[in-house]
Amino acid sequence: MSAPKTAKPIEIARRGLMLVISSPSGAGKSTIARNLLEADSGISLSISVTTRQRRPSEIAGRHYHFIDRPEFEMLRDSDALLEWAEVHGNFYGTPRKPVEEAMAAGRDMLFDIDWQGAQQLQEKMAADVVSIFILPPSMTELQSRLHRRAEDTADVIATRLANSRAEIEHWHEYDYVILNDDLDAAFDAVQSIVKAERLRRDRRHGMYEFVSKLLTEQPVL
Ligand code: 5GP
Repeated sequence: MSAPKTAKPIEIARRGLMLVISSPSGAGKSTIARNLLEADSGISLSISVTTRQRRPSEIAGRHYHFIDRPEFEMLRDSDALLEWAEVHGNFYGTPRKPVEEAMAAGRDMLFDIDWQGAQQLQEKMAADVVSIFILPPSMTELQSRLHRRAEDTADVIATRLANSRAEIEHWHEYDYVILNDDLDAAFDAVQSIVKAERLRRDRRHGMYEFVSKLLTEQPVL
């Protein structure tokens, strides 16, 4: 016979996770990130600012905040960005305020950022960062995924392919590395990582209070 369920699940307070996902363009990172946000209401996306042109399928304020170069420089110089980098000739940065608010409230955040951004977050907020690198199965597959997306010009695709080797060289700086030769399996792996990382003792400060109460409790027969 199984033990009777308590009326309400016991909640243990914990710090929020900063889930950083990087990969070369076309390795499936955006799809994995989108699936994760749909499947898990406990995670919100950090919406970056960028000086890049908006793609037709993108919505301002949802995928990125599209801003011009002077605005970007103003944010960067006033320390309003937690990290920033130049990627493929455009500037990208993570607004600081939403991240600090989410962390203080114990909410998890997802960062779709490149290796330069991942390094900066790891340096500044090591205890909260969990980093994942997604690898494509081959360079040929990477190229055909970039072409299939068909939202970028041939020049842009060529730059992204050339830059992808430089991005891949940083794979070993990440906590986890996932080979995306099967999207469902790769997504499954990301979900397992999130599940396990949320259970880590060092994130769950509420466990101290719970255990001390547990130890003073007298069992009722
Ligand atoms: P895309 O132009 O394809 O949306 O993004 C190009 C690259 O910039 C991707 O690798 C993406 O992860 C990265 N990126 C997007 N936002 C940020 C950001 O705020 N900071 C950094 N460092 N990289 C970013």
